[in-house]
Amino acid sequence: MTTYLFTPPPIQSLAVRGQSARLPINRIFCVGRNYHAHAIEMGRPVDKSVEQAFYFTKSPQTLVHSGQTVAYPPRTSNYHFEMELVLVIGKAGFRVSEANAHELVYGYAAGLDMTRRDLQLVARDKGRPWDTGKDFEQGAVCSEIVHMPGVVIENAAIDLEVNGASKQSSNVEKLIWNIREIIADLSTYYHLQPGDLIYTGTPEGVGAVLPGDKITGRVDGVAEIELTIGAAQ
Ligand code: MN
Repeated sequence: MTTYLFTPPPIQSLAVRGQSARLPINRIFCVGRNYHAHAIEMGRPVDKSVEQAFYFTKSPQTLVHSGQTVAYPPRTSNYHFEMELVLVIGKAGFRVSEANAHELVYGYAAGLDMTRRDLQLVARDKGRPWDTGKDFEQGAVCSEIVHMPGVVIENAAIDLEVNGASKQSSNVEKLIWNIREIIADLSTYYHLQPGDLIYTGTPEGVGAVLPGDKITGRVDGVAEIELTIGAAQ
């Protein structure tokens, strides 16, 4: 039996609706700028005819389950929500065609790609990695997973409120790179594995939250999500 010098980090996992077994999380990928209206509000419009999709990652250890209270994170004064459809990979695949992409779909969840926007934008504008703006503790929030094997979601309302006031309201039909395209393209960079999560991007209306705020959101036909912002650490 292997012995370790200290207790290894726990395996991250998410609940699956209707099942007692939990889904172990391998990696967390995020698609950048995947709705035109959000790309424009960030000052970086997308021309799909000449641009490729791009991705960043969050550590699995940043994962937080819906319904929790998270501390307002350090080193930011502009802590943003991004409501997203999360795609859950259930089967390994490399260089998967768009036509076969559905075979990798385990299911979906509702997610929040929480962002230290001030840090992200400084990094972006200096041409530096934006890890400190995106890949931070408790920064990847996810609902329970819904098992929808082989389903390609093409149309579903996606909405978010803060303290009951609507902030984001769109439809995943507006994704610039759709579910089949994301799987096919990402699988040219990585060998996709069961337990990989892909946050598919956020629509317009992103904004800041403060301690005491409560975020609610949903992807119709998939799941709902909740997050409460606690005091700063
Ligand atoms: Mn995002």
